[in-house]
Amino acid sequence: MFCCLQTIQSKTKFVSLATGFKNSSRAQSINSATKTHGFETKSTKQLFKSVSILKLCAYRPFVEHGEKILGYFYKTFGKTFTTKLLQATFYDQFCIGDSTEEILRKCEVIKRENMFPLLCNTAEEKTNPSSYEFGETWFDSNKDNMLKCIDLTCLASQSAVTKPVQMKLTAIIDAKICKILSDVILKGHTEELGSWLQSIAENRSKVVQEVSFLDAEQQKHAICAIRRLIDVFSNALKKQINVLVDAEYDDINPAINFISTNMMLLFNKNAPVVQCTYQCYLKSSYNSLRQDMEFCKHFNIHFGAKVVRGAYLESERIKAQKLNMESPVFETWQQTNKNYNKVIAKLIEEISKNKKCHVMVASHNKESIELSVDFINSLGIERSSPQILFAQLYGLSDHLSLWLAKNGFQVYKSSPIGSVDETIPYMIRRANENNSVIQNSRGDRTLMMQEILSRCLFF
Ligand SMILES: Cc1cc2nc3c(=O)[nH]c(=O)nc-3n(C[C@H](O)[C@H](O)[C@H](O)COP(=O)(O)OP(=O)(O)OC[C@H]3O[C@@H](n4cnc5c(N)ncnc54)[C@H](O)[C@@H]3O)c2cc1C
Repeated sequence: MFCCLQTIQSKTKFVSLATGFKNSSRAQSINSATKTHGFETKSTKQLFKSVSILKLCAYRPFVEHGEKILGYFYKTFGKTFTTKLLQATFYDQFCIGDSTEEILRKCEVIKRENMFPLLCNTAEEKTNPSSYEFGETWFDSNKDNMLKCIDLTCLASQSAVTKPVQMKLTAIIDAKICKILSDVILKGHTEELGSWLQSIAENRSKVVQEVSFLDAEQQKHAICAIRRLIDVFSNALKKQINVLVDAEYDDINPAINFISTNMMLLFNKNAPVVQCTYQCYLKSSYNSLRQDMEFCKHFNIHFGAKVVRGAYLESERIKAQKLNMESPVFETWQQTNKNYNKVIAKLIEEISKNKKCHVMVASHNKESIELSVDFINSLGIERSSPQILFAQLYGLSDHLSLWLAKNGFQVYKSSPIGSVDETIPYMIRRANENNSVIQNSRGDRTLMMQEILSRCLFF
């Protein structure tokens, strides 16, 4: 049964969980525990390469002018040489591969370090997909890529208790439609939308009821998109994979969240097959999380949350300024951090008493990771609990990932798959959005240099 979230009111009294942190003694600081770095499995050449690439990416003008530099290389040295150069450097550092063999080989390296891959494909980042007006082919091929991600995860993570994959909803449904649906949701007209989704899910091969807020062509696309989504989630359910739906821009997030939470009703009866993402830089994120948790409790289904700070900070601020609206994101980094830690605390506290609640702490922030670890320890939750996962981007903050893995936590590396042509533009955009994280890779670089030096001195 599909339903509107607004009707589910939280009855639980809010307790400031963040105070729990204050009383918990920090069991083991990451700093003191990274003395051995965890880079033993990497060759000296690999370490050198990683240090140089991270250093170059931390240089802001290099990332800002990434596309221009890339264009210059293509023009001057030709496509073959540039592609080979990219493949051996940036692509190798931040991407997991394109062919099945290459992906599985790199997954093996991740697994050797007691971590697992979290595969995501970058197809949705291609230059404008020509949108639904020109046909469904692009979206269909993205669905096929998602199905491939699911199959690869089955192959690569056989020994993992939890097998997640990452998915962007706008790879399946046009962002313009998400914007229209979001406006409908924000106006409170959720009942018509809920029953329309239900009618699509129930009448898979038949004509479905019409809705007032989409024209005929938009409806045609939206129906195809919801059917694509159902195919992805059905496949994931069959293969015991959890699909973590990414959060995107704030003006399309209501639709992403509404569709995802309604899909939870169909697929999350026995496992958290569909999971949402909460961007803690959003002032509204804590309340949305509580509302969705209550929704799942009400229907006695599994709830899963990927918790991130958020990747579209600058664009959100610019958009709000242009529209002369209050910015949806916190004014300061400290406020975002406080909110992130509050959201994590709420989830971990819930997990200590509810087997149907799941979290992925998706962050490179040392303090947030340490606080999560403290909270898990203080509540006596098993470190290896399949309900609590940690994740960092492939090629970034490896020392944090390795420390977590060494200490028995479930760790995943978010690993983009695709060809060099597909992934490099995606990575330039990500590097711009996440430049602060790359700047913070100084810690990683220092540890890698220490490892290189110790090898040179004590060979
Ligand atoms: C596995 C994984 C999945 C992800 N999925 C998503 C996703 O679905 N959607 C998405 O948007 N992002 C996603 N991200 C990216 C994520 O949102 C962050 O951009 C990135 O991880 C940096 O945050 P951090 O906690 O790692 O690092 P930190 O360096 O601690 O935080 C940097 C982040 O803090 C926030 N911030 C910085 N300054 C300010 C300020 N002045 N005011 C308010 N906030 C500020 C910004 O969000 C910035 O990106 C994902 C990241 C990972 C590792």
